[in-house]
Amino acid sequence: MEKFGFTLTKARVIDYDRNDHSIVDFIMEREPSFKACIECGCCSATCTTGNFTGFSLREINVLLKRGENDQVRKKIKKCMLCGKCSLVCPRGVNTRNVVFVAKQAFQKFDNYAV
Ligand code: SF4
Ligand code: SF4
Repeated sequence: MEKFGFTLTKARVIDYDRNDHSIVDFIMEREPSFKACIECGCCSATCTTGNFTGFSLREINVLLKRGENDQVRKKIKKCMLCGKCSLVCPRGVNTRNVVFVAKQAFQKFDNYAV
């Protein structure tokens, strides 16, 4: 094979149909305010954990909605459930409860230790 000095990167495809939506369905049922999230990032900007680590609740929200749960599993452990993010959400999402219920869902569906 010819070498051109570069390689093609693998396509980043989000397959909504194949991804696992069990976690997000569990959350939507118990905390319907999550449906109102517009992924603006205000929660991440005010997040106590986010100030000291790379943790982003906005990223968690996006990944959960896509059903990309493998990425969320480890990241979500960093949330301290302080509730600061709930105070700034312009859409009135009970963000603290979203994380709380998400942790419950991981525990229920794959014996994930919270
Ligand atoms: S602040 Fe509210 S609307 Fe904005 S990303 Fe966070 S949860 Fe979603
Ligand atoms: S509840 Fe979690 S996501 Fe929200 S501000 Fe506190 S540490 Fe950040």
